[in-house]
Amino acid sequence: MIGKCDQCGLESVEVKRMKKPNSQEETALCNQCRPVDGAYAY
Ligand SMILES: [Zn+2]
Repeated sequence: MIGKCDQCGLESVEVKRMKKPNSQEETALCNQCRPVDGAYAY
């Protein structure tokens, strides 16, 4: 979806909502901020 990245603050970027590890809290991360090492991987 297009939205604002919670980490870098960029707006109008493609973000994915995902739960933080060990938390019920959701965060939206853009492609840049989303780790590719598997920490948030599906
Ligand atoms: Zn970002």
